[in-house]
Amino acid sequence: MIVGSGVEIGRLLMDSASRDFGGLEFLFGIPGTIGGAVYGNAGAFGHCVGDFIKSATLLIPGDENHETRIVRHTAKWFEFGNRTSKLKEFVKLHSLANRPVILSVKLQLAQGRKDVILRKMQENLKTKKTSQPLGVKSAGCFFKNPGISREQSAGFLLDRSGAKRFQVGDAVVSKTHANFVVNKNKATADDIRRLAGQMKDAVRAEFRTVLEEEVEYVGKW
Ligand SMILES: Cc1cc2nc3c(=O)[nH]c(=O)nc-3n(C[C@H](O)[C@H](O)[C@H](O)COP(=O)(O)OP(=O)(O)OC[C@H]3O[C@@H](n4cnc5c(N)ncnc54)[C@H](O)[C@@H]3O)c2cc1C
Repeated sequence: MIVGSGVEIGRLLMDSASRDFGGLEFLFGIPGTIGGAVYGNAGAFGHCVGDFIKSATLLIPGDENHETRIVRHTAKWFEFGNRTSKLKEFVKLHSLANRPVILSVKLQLAQGRKDVILRKMQENLKTKKTSQPLGVKSAGCFFKNPGISREQSAGFLLDRSGAKRFQVGDAVVSKTHANFVVNKNKATADDIRRLAGQMKDAVRAEFRTVLEEEVEYVGKW
């Protein structure tokens, strides 16, 4: 399936299910577009979107020496890793204006039966709802998991460090999942940044582990 990068994940999954194509059911419930999901190699339940990418078309902005180009790259070029891709690493080193933009994505899906695919999507969503605060204002998981086991996950370390009690202004650590920062009403970016600092300090003090942000801070801090 070839999909425009601005298509929302939920829409993509419903459309592909209606054509008896599955494989991406694990993404159901993750907000955002397919472009954003590829950029951060979004995933859940042990799967990630990078495993389903055949190729993508990108716009590479020009500069004083190069013209703007539209190119196609295979999945290998993206160097997908744990919630990251070459694009995500690229932007750490380059200015906002030079960011490549994913225009469309070619996905390898699997033939299945619509009713089975839809049931799997609903099951995944139900599981997600029990462990994550969905339907409230959050950016998803705030910190990367320092390791792959449950005991090495950022949520576990934060929970054990007492972070669920933390609050700065209207920014609070979710009681459902300690790696989610929730804006209760009018939290400012500064509230959220300060709360994130407290969360990091608590885990460093308790476990001597330095958490690294999965979210991106935009602008000058
Ligand atoms: C409640 C909640 C639950 C979540 N659960 C999960 C989960 O289970 N697993 C998981 O992996 N993630 C999860 N996330 C994070 C989620 O993957 C990201 O928020 C989402 O993929 C971002 O996509 P977006 O379209 O909203 O992008 P944005 O938030 O708009 O952008 C995010 C980044 O992607 C870049 N980007 C977006 N589109 C493109 C494009 N077309 N070309 C180039 N760069 C682009 C932007 O420049 C930006 O740097 C969750 C988030 C929330 C809020």
